Amino acid sequence: MESVSSNSLKTVLVTGSNKGIGFGILRGLLLKNIDYNFVLTSRDEKRGKTSYEKLIDEFPNKSDNIFYHQLDITDNDSTTGCFQWIKSKFGQIDMLVDNAAVAYKGPEFNLDVYNFTFPINVYGTINFTEKIIDADLIRKDGKIVILGSMAGTLARLSEERRKEFMDDNLTLQGLFDLSSKFKQAIIDNKIKENGWTETAYGTTKMIINTYARVLSKRKEIKERNIGVYVCNPGWVRTDMAGPRAPLSIEEGVLTPIYLIELPDGIIQDLQGKYFDNCQVASYYDIIF
Ligand code: NAP
Repeated sequence: MESVSSNSLKTVLVTGSNKGIGFGILRGLLLKNIDYNFVLTSRDEKRGKTSYEKLIDEFPNKSDNIFYHQLDITDNDSTTGCFQWIKSKFGQIDMLVDNAAVAYKGPEFNLDVYNFTFPINVYGTINFTEKIIDADLIRKDGKIVILGSMAGTLARLSEERRKEFMDDNLTLQGLFDLSSKFKQAIIDNKIKENGWTETAYGTTKMIINTYARVLSKRKEIKERNIGVYVCNPGWVRTDMAGPRAPLSIEEGVLTPIYLIELPDGIIQDLQGKYFDNCQVASYYDIIF
């Protein structure tokens, strides 16, 4: 396979980028005429290739720097295949954008909704990111930008639950334990009693918003000087959020792109922080 590592451009890979905000981030960077290698990925190869062709059609002069690979963040074979491809094509990537996620559309709230949402948004996102770090696939001074959400506000949790999320000593295992506690509360039908709120998607985003802080403390992240950020894109008109959302995709990608363009490596005051409207914000107490 031909390697492009010799072209010395930075490489940005976006998960779930066949549509919505993920696709918009790649398109937004291309519109800015930034010289990166752009990696569009999708769980469904046909949908992904169609979107890849769209980018190539719109940016023919960048066609040598736009790439596609299949990637389902919950599927071991798929992530392994993608890792091997990254290694042979680029050696390492410079920036990972953790964008892929799902939100259940119906009004129900039960274990099925948990099982639809958590394996992708929590376990898929975190395990994929951890594996990519363990495999040393992000370059020194690189960056991880995670799509969190204001839906992950801690405002509607009990004081005790909030404290668990805000604990500075919270570990990755602690985050997974919180996921398990939430699942058990659904099984026991004790959501409110146990300090949770009835939202599977929102709870996945509480965990993902918090993951950035936990990840930023990982030894390898510090040693390799990798910047870690999580952001709320706003309420954006995509298949996930629907047509009533106020922001266009072009508006919704402003904060993720701002983070992608921050200087390389760790910026002490910003490391592990949650961003809204291109600024550090708090998801601990926002009410919307
Ligand atoms: P979207 O249009 O539904 O796009 C989600 C993308 O994730 C799709 O490409 C989807 O692929 C992909 N995906 C789902 N499961 C996957 C998996 N297992 N492996 C790989 N890719 C997978 O949603 P969006 O609105 O653009 O959301 C993008 C991110 O922004 C999400 O993290 C979301 O939580 C966050 N966010 C969005 C809003 C909003 O208002 N839109 C607000 C706050 C945060 P398929 O096409 O195959 O389904």
